[in-house]
Amino acid sequence: MAMTTGDLPPNELVTEGRAILDWIAAYLREPERYPVLARVRPGDIRRSLPASPPEHGEALETIVRDFETRILPGITHWNHPGFFAYFSISASVPGILAELLIAALNVNGMLWKTSPAATELEQVALDWLRQLLGMQPGWFGIINDTASISTMLALAAAREAWPELAIRERGMAGRADLPTLRVYTSTQAHSSVDKAALALGIGLDNVVHIEADEQFRMRADLLGRAIVADRARGMLPIACVATVGTTSTTSVDPVPAIAEICAREQLWLHVDASYGGAAAVVPEMRPVLDGVERADSLVVNPHKWLFTPIDCSAFFTRRADVLRRAFSLVPEYLVTREQDEVENLMDYGVQLGRRFRALKLWMVIRAFGADGLADRIRAHCRLAQQFAGWVEADDDWELMAPVPFSLVCFRYAPAGMSDADRDRRNEEILHAVNATGDVFLSHTRLGGRFTLRLAIGNIRTQERHVELAWRRLREAAAQ
Ligand SMILES: *Cc1c(COP(=O)(O)O)cnc(C)c1O
Repeated sequence: MAMTTGDLPPNELVTEGRAILDWIAAYLREPERYPVLARVRPGDIRRSLPASPPEHGEALETIVRDFETRILPGITHWNHPGFFAYFSISASVPGILAELLIAALNVNGMLWKTSPAATELEQVALDWLRQLLGMQPGWFGIINDTASISTMLALAAAREAWPELAIRERGMAGRADLPTLRVYTSTQAHSSVDKAALALGIGLDNVVHIEADEQFRMRADLLGRAIVADRARGMLPIACVATVGTTSTTSVDPVPAIAEICAREQLWLHVDASYGGAAAVVPEMRPVLDGVERADSLVVNPHKWLFTPIDCSAFFTRRADVLRRAFSLVPEYLVTREQDEVENLMDYGVQLGRRFRALKLWMVIRAFGADGLADRIRAHCRLAQQFAGWVEADDDWELMAPVPFSLVCFRYAPAGMSDADRDRRNEEILHAVNATGDVFLSHTRLGGRFTLRLAIGNIRTQERHVELAWRRLREAAAQ
């Protein structure tokens, strides 16, 4: 057989591409065709696939057929309107189309020169996002894959804000001259803060988890005391991570009070608004970002609650020079003539290669507009209030936390049932409703008690889906 080189012919793109677009359209039209939570057991998908790669190329048509029959059964449908677990996310039509263009161009935006539009559009899209969130000018924005990485970069910059420690050059190991670096966050903070500390060599033990109040917000008074106590022990407090919309309950830390303490104590303030920050596109919800104007950095994930396909995490800092100092390293082969006039985004993090994610954020913002984004988020918050109202009105159920955004924490708690039995019953209820395939919820523990979470955030979720969740929950409780 003659050796073939080069890509598949473009007419294959047209024929298969049309079929795939039709498939996507049908999928989005009827996302409820599939059970939201995959019904496979560990190993099922792997066993259904050949263990070795094909010797010869196969027809796209065959591959796509196998995608439907073999891969799809193992998909948990994050685009399903009954997805209420974790924080629900969605790929919207403009985002999906943008991903197609992104793959077609296959740009690597590591340097301005390697695609000027990738760098400049990233700056434009993030400046638009800044404005949508009601933040003042003066922020530098960059897109990372996830909030976890954004937070790690924030803590790396916080450390570089102490250049006299020379950690960039000398590292941290084996240095008797180096004080122990300390990072503060709340007991409700996301585990990415701890992961950042372990990745940076700060160490898990040096992440101080400040107690939260009865509404799961960091206690600023205890933060101030913890910093003073650590200083007295010769430690060096470097950063505080406050959260706007915690993962368990979407509580909002008192950022203005925390910012005051950080300013006084010279700590880098990073605000993790991965989920909750999106709410600031709703004009009347802008106050959720109060105090952020005094922060050093902030992360918000458009891939969480701004209808942009994963991955797209927006990282903002008012101290880009420090972030750059932490990471800029230019080998000869990446030197460019215009490097003093432009931003080279490789200078602001660990990664060199950079996907053209700005295109999808830009297309999503344009397609929905400020009012369209706000309407959608407002609608999700309204649905959450409605659901919370049903829970409150039913004597057998109770709310477990306030509902400031679109997440409801609740449990089945009939009178006369012990807390241990309630824990067990709620866990059973969770498994039962998730087995229906209609809805998918997740859980957390609050005050030690097993708590159900209903997170509304998918662009296709309507009132009837929330009603169905409530019906399924009560049916499961009645069994
Ligand atoms: C989801 C979430 C994260 C983690 O986001 P990734 O982008 O998956 O890393 C971090 N913090 C908060 C508050 C979150 O809600």
